[in-house]
Amino acid sequence: MKSLTLNAPAKINYLLDVIRRRPDGYHDLRMIMQRVNLCDEITITLTDTPEVAVTCGKKGVPDGPGNIAWKAARALLDLAGVGQGATIAITKNIPVAAGLGGGSSDAAAVLMGMNELLGLGLSDQKLMEIGLKLGADVPFFVFRKTALAEGVGEQLTVMPAMPPAWVVLVNPGVHVSTAWVYRNLQLKNRAELAKLPHFYGNIEDICSILSNDLEAVTIPAFPVIADIKASMMRLGALGAMMSGSGPTVFGLFRDRETAEMAADALTAGTGWFTAAVETM
Ligand code: ATP
Repeated sequence: MKSLTLNAPAKINYLLDVIRRRPDGYHDLRMIMQRVNLCDEITITLTDTPEVAVTCGKKGVPDGPGNIAWKAARALLDLAGVGQGATIAITKNIPVAAGLGGGSSDAAAVLMGMNELLGLGLSDQKLMEIGLKLGADVPFFVFRKTALAEGVGEQLTVMPAMPPAWVVLVNPGVHVSTAWVYRNLQLKNRAELAKLPHFYGNIEDICSILSNDLEAVTIPAFPVIADIKASMMRLGALGAMMSGSGPTVFGLFRDRETAEMAADALTAGTGWFTAAVETM
């Protein structure tokens, strides 16, 4: 049986500007997306029967066709037109519905893995087109570079080189619905978007662009997010921001020791998910 195991990393948003509502109900965005090495582990095995089966065993993540990884596998099998199927085992390490893009990353890993296992030879461009139909963040995880993402997230440009950083992730586990956040968002009335630097020499340069329009909706409803940001800064972060529509907060740190001490301090007695990871 042909089989492949892949890591599917999480992402954080250094920047998330919501530019306009589109007639189709989606929003045009300007985002800077960065991968971090907190990863789901995905094992794909080709089978001789045409079905796709997903096992995950994580609360809140469907096992069958509701799983975005299932849809990704189905899309490539249908395109290949072969009688084979696949089993996909997901070890979920990325918190679910957390603003960390876990589902999208799983789908991208399955697209890339199935492309290889089936010997399809599809370009990244083609995989990104297929991925966009599954979710707006899927193309970014096929792109595999720190990116400026525009449109709904599908227009990707490589960012200038950015220095590596230690990243502390804290998810307080409150339930934030992405649809609810966008429904309640008051679009900013701005003449033009803030200009982005062309050069990022140190982590402070990254911190100078940290911004997320969705905090204006999520933080008033979940003040714990502001508390976590403040704690991160007290514990030595150079900058801290909410990722995506939340509720995960990330803090940027220069060194591993300070990052791990901050993660430990933020775990103590809270029951929150925390991790000290690195940018990729
Ligand atoms: P984003 O940052 O792109 O908004 P997210 O991190 O907030 O994503 P996900 O973890 O991708 O959100 O999950 C969103 C929803 O998708 C969950 O409620 C879950 O039921 C569903 N889902 C389907 N497949 C998966 C998967 N493989 N992993 C996680 N969630 C999945």
